[in-house]
Amino acid sequence: MKVECPRCHNQNNHYLYEYLGEYYCRKCISFSRVKINDQRLTKRVKYSCQTVKYHLDFQLSSRQLEISHQLLQNYINRKNSFVWAVCGSGKTEIVFEVIQYALQQGERVCFCIPRKELVKELYQRIRTCFQNIDIGLLYGGYEEKKNAQFIICTMHQLYKFENDIGFDLVISDEVDAFPFYKNEVLEEIFSRCCLGTFIKLSATFVPKDIQNGELIIMNRRYHGVDLPVPQKILCPQWLQRWLLLIILLKKRKRWIVYVPTIQLVEDIVHFLKLFKRNVEGVSSKSFDSQTYIHHLKKSSHFILVSTTLLERGITIEDVHVIVLYSEHQVFDERTLIQIAGRVGRKPNYTTGDIYFITAHFSKEIQKCIHTIKKLNQMNV
Ligand SMILES: [Zn+2]
Repeated sequence: MKVECPRCHNQNNHYLYEYLGEYYCRKCISFSRVKINDQRLTKRVKYSCQTVKYHLDFQLSSRQLEISHQLLQNYINRKNSFVWAVCGSGKTEIVFEVIQYALQQGERVCFCIPRKELVKELYQRIRTCFQNIDIGLLYGGYEEKKNAQFIICTMHQLYKFENDIGFDLVISDEVDAFPFYKNEVLEEIFSRCCLGTFIKLSATFVPKDIQNGELIIMNRRYHGVDLPVPQKILCPQWLQRWLLLIILLKKRKRWIVYVPTIQLVEDIVHFLKLFKRNVEGVSSKSFDSQTYIHHLKKSSHFILVSTTLLERGITIEDVHVIVLYSEHQVFDERTLIQIAGRVGRKPNYTTGDIYFITAHFSKEIQKCIHTIKKLNQMNV
C-alpha cells in the first residue's frame, strides 16, 4: 500500500514514523506534526468589502506604474506573475495597487519574505501606506492578528494557514533565497495556502524558475542609471590578499569585502588590521554585525569583511564591493548578482566599483556579468 503525507506528498517510508498506532511524516515535521490520515483542507473565506486605499509619499516611475497596472490585470485574469526586478529598482511598491484591489474585493492577501528582519521592516513600511485595515504579522516566535484579511509573514509561518483560511493573493519576495529556494516542503505549503493567484518577486530569476505564469522584467533601477558592471581581476590565490590590500590602500572608500568562509573573514580582518585601522568583520557567528554595519554607514572609509551574510537586504549609500576568491563555489550567479546589486542604489551615488578577484574565471562569474550586461541593454 502506498501512503502519502497529506501535506508534503512524501511517499518515502523512510520518513514515516509510528506514534501511538498512527503514522506521521518526519519530512515536514519542523513545521508541525502531520498524521497520514489527517484531512487537510484550506478554506476560502470572503471578507466584508471595504474601502481600502493606500498612499505613497513619492511618485512611482513610469515603468513601475506600468508593471503595477500589469500585475492588477493579471490578478483580475487569475494569472500568476513573476517579477524579475533588478536590485534597487523598488519592487515593493509595485504590488500595492493589486493588494488594494484584492482587499477591496473582500479577498485575503498574504505578503511573505524569507527572513524575519525583513518581515518586520516590510510590516512597518506597509502599515504606513495602508492605514485603515488590520494587518496580521507573523514570524518565528511572534504572532499578531492571525485572522486578519491582510497578513505579512515569513515563508516559514505559512504552515499556520494551510489547514485554515488560505489566501486569494500571495505575494512572495526573494523567492530565490534561503530557505524557500529548492525547499520542496515549503513550496508545497506555499501552494496549499495560495488558493488563487501568486506574484513572485526576485532580483535573480533564472529561466527554469518561471513556470505557470507571466514573466515581467524591471531592468532599470528607480534612478534609471545602468547597473554597474563588475570588473574581473585574475590573480593567483596566494596573492589575492595582497592585491586586495593594494586596492584598499589606493582607494580610500567605503568597502564591503566578500569572502567565501567564516574562517576567511577572521583571517582577512587580521591581515588588514596590520595595515589599516577601520576594518571589521561580520558573519553568521558574530554578535555585533549591526554595530559594524552602522559603522560602515557612518564612516566614509570603513572596510567591512563579510561572508555572503550581507549578500542581500542591505542598502548603504556610496558603498563599493570586492569579492575575494570569487572562484569559490559559494559565489554562484545569483549570489554574485546580489552582491553587485549593493552598489549604486542611491540617487546620489548611482554607480561604484565592483571587483571580482579570482584565480580563474568561473562559469558563474561569466554568467553574472553576462546577465548584468543583458539587463542594461534590454529595452522594456
Ligand atoms: Zn510531510
